[in-house]
Amino acid sequence: MDSPILAVSHLSKSFRGLKAIQDVSLSVPKGSICSLIGPNGAGKSTFFNLLTGYFPPDQGQIVFEARDITGISPERIAQQGVARAFQIAKPFPAMSVVENVRIGALFGRAGPRDVQAVTHHAVELAGLGDLAGREARELTVGQLRRLEVARALAARPSLLLADEPCAGLNHTETAEMVDILRRIREAGATVLLVEHDMSAVMRVSDIVMVLETGMLIAQGTPDAVTRDPRVIAAYLGTDE
Ligand code: ADP
Ligand code: MG
Repeated sequence: MDSPILAVSHLSKSFRGLKAIQDVSLSVPKGSICSLIGPNGAGKSTFFNLLTGYFPPDQGQIVFEARDITGISPERIAQQGVARAFQIAKPFPAMSVVENVRIGALFGRAGPRDVQAVTHHAVELAGLGDLAGREARELTVGQLRRLEVARALAARPSLLLADEPCAGLNHTETAEMVDILRRIREAGATVLLVEHDMSAVMRVSDIVMVLETGMLIAQGTPDAVTRDPRVIAAYLGTDE
């Protein structure tokens, strides 16, 4: 878990003077599950948007697997092996689970002859094997969230960015998602998570990083971070 798969240095992004990300430097160890937490508006989604190339940063550098990916297009970043599972899944409603996941594989890094196997693997890893033939529109919120993770996994990423995969899930569904994230890591990928569900974050993360008003105010093990006075203040200072 030593060498970083992702190293971000001095990253900044403003929107019309609003400093959404301010001089953030962090690294994600290969093979880890890292979580990015912070109050609403802290800059978590902006950080993901910078990593995936949706916006270019104003300043700073993003190095993924020892390659500088700063400012390159979302398509090329995806091709290098970064995939994002969105919080709001937008599957093709009349297509089956397996067909939706296959689309992720077709647009991902699998070779044409591997699409079938990669699709199957992603469906199984996300615990959707029994629902493979079901139309996406029939799925529950929890199942849709897993479909979104499976679609992202089918691109064969070495780094999976998961945006609030546990939001709106009940206790059982959250436990399932935590298991899935662990299995993804066991299968060899690194996971960077943005998540509000603190108990899930604390259970699953090797490292927790805390953003507040665009700045990284703490990072460390779940235990260390929960005892950090700045983190406690950041959370007590909000309505969340
Ligand atoms: P989080 O995901 O932690 O809730 P965001 O990254 O969405 O936070 O937002 C950080 C700040 O940047 C907020 O003040 C938000 O209003 C602002 N922001 C985010 N995206 C944009 C954008 N595309 N245009 C203008 N302001 C934005
Ligand atoms: Mg957000």
